[in-house]
Amino acid sequence: MQISESKRLFAHAKNFIPGGVNSPVRAFRAVGGEPIFIQKANGAYLYDEDGNSYIELINSWGPMILGHNHPMIRESVIQAMENGTSFGAPTAREVEIAELIVSMVPSVEKVRMVNSGTEATMSAIRVARGYTGRDKFIKMEGHYHGHGDSFLISAGSGAITMGNPDSPGVTVGTAKDTLLAPYNDLQAIETLVAANKGEIAALILEPVPGNMGLCLPNPGYLQGLREICTREGIVLIFDEVMTGFRLAKGGAQELFGVTPDMTTLGKIIGGGMPVGAYGGKKEIMEFVSPAGPVYQAGTLSGNPIAMAAGLTMLNYLNTHPEVYTRLNEIGMQLASGIASINHRLGHDFTLNQLGSMYSLFFTEESVVDFETAKKSDTALFGKYFQGMLKRGVYLAPSQFESLFLSTALTDDLIAQILQAHEESMKEIL
Ligand code: PLP
Repeated sequence: MQISESKRLFAHAKNFIPGGVNSPVRAFRAVGGEPIFIQKANGAYLYDEDGNSYIELINSWGPMILGHNHPMIRESVIQAMENGTSFGAPTAREVEIAELIVSMVPSVEKVRMVNSGTEATMSAIRVARGYTGRDKFIKMEGHYHGHGDSFLISAGSGAITMGNPDSPGVTVGTAKDTLLAPYNDLQAIETLVAANKGEIAALILEPVPGNMGLCLPNPGYLQGLREICTREGIVLIFDEVMTGFRLAKGGAQELFGVTPDMTTLGKIIGGGMPVGAYGGKKEIMEFVSPAGPVYQAGTLSGNPIAMAAGLTMLNYLNTHPEVYTRLNEIGMQLASGIASINHRLGHDFTLNQLGSMYSLFFTEESVVDFETAKKSDTALFGKYFQGMLKRGVYLAPSQFESLFLSTALTDDLIAQILQAHEESMKEIL
């Protein structure tokens, strides 16, 4: 595999962009080697600047659930552009997408569009604080909610991958209002709540976390959180930036039958354009300006091109339930194929999978939270990543990420991925 053009671009990029990339994990630092510069993508494939192609298992970190450059999304963007790229004023399309989101996501009665998942979570916490008149909130260790200051404390995703789960630059004053709890431990929440009685505005979590690698909620865990939050007047926020419209059309809350008070969304909601959203109960969302006093705004929020792509994507998912059946099949086929190859090779590494998300952890212990995820052999993961890459399979370049599958994966491609997996494992073990 020739990657000379990617190497040249990376060297050049480092002169002008910190670390040569616009988002840290893209630098491939945790897996050794240097990043691949992507020229274009189509269906199940990425194509780099050297002319290599890769089967995609990240899909732009989640948004491309139907595969890349889907003709339907592309057409909607081109059509929208005929009328101009931004107005900074209300449009019919943003009303339509809001109505659609309200109909699809159980907890959302009103919704505000923003430009990223980070904006969605920062805004949701502010609204929960304004609504309750309380300052503190609970966050789970290893969960990632974007790069807002108050979330960069024991943060997963790129923050842990780069070795900075507690980022410098976050003040002690900010950090003191973020209370940390381990995922999947209801007793820890009871203890925190008792020690901070009447002071906690919100509990935010990824209901099915993907940012420390994929972990699943223990039976009854999400229901237990719901009960505690209701009892204590705490706003329960599900961060469904990854899981929204992916695990089911109504996200993890539909799948597990637990309705939070607020939900944050991103990725799929924009069909690949920069979009996020937060929504929830009417009485809470009525606190958002100009309906209420909590300020939140955005020059490009509800951007017409982004709304066109998002609306096309959500309309399709809403009317094609077979997408989820197929994604579940693909997820199961890959997960069971990988597990049986590993078993045959004598290594029962933990594989967590739900629908079209999965993570292979290089540990044989069960992974249920941040502590157990961190037991993985990250050096071995790096070798595995490189083995897959040179065989034309593009994985997330970190042990602490989930993979995101798309409907563009055919049975034939799944067979190719499994073959690459077997060869890579034989090479590194
Ligand atoms: N919340 C979750 C669960 C995420 O996975 C992410 C990003 O991966 C975010 C929030 C932040 O979203 P963005 O990167 O669009 O700011």
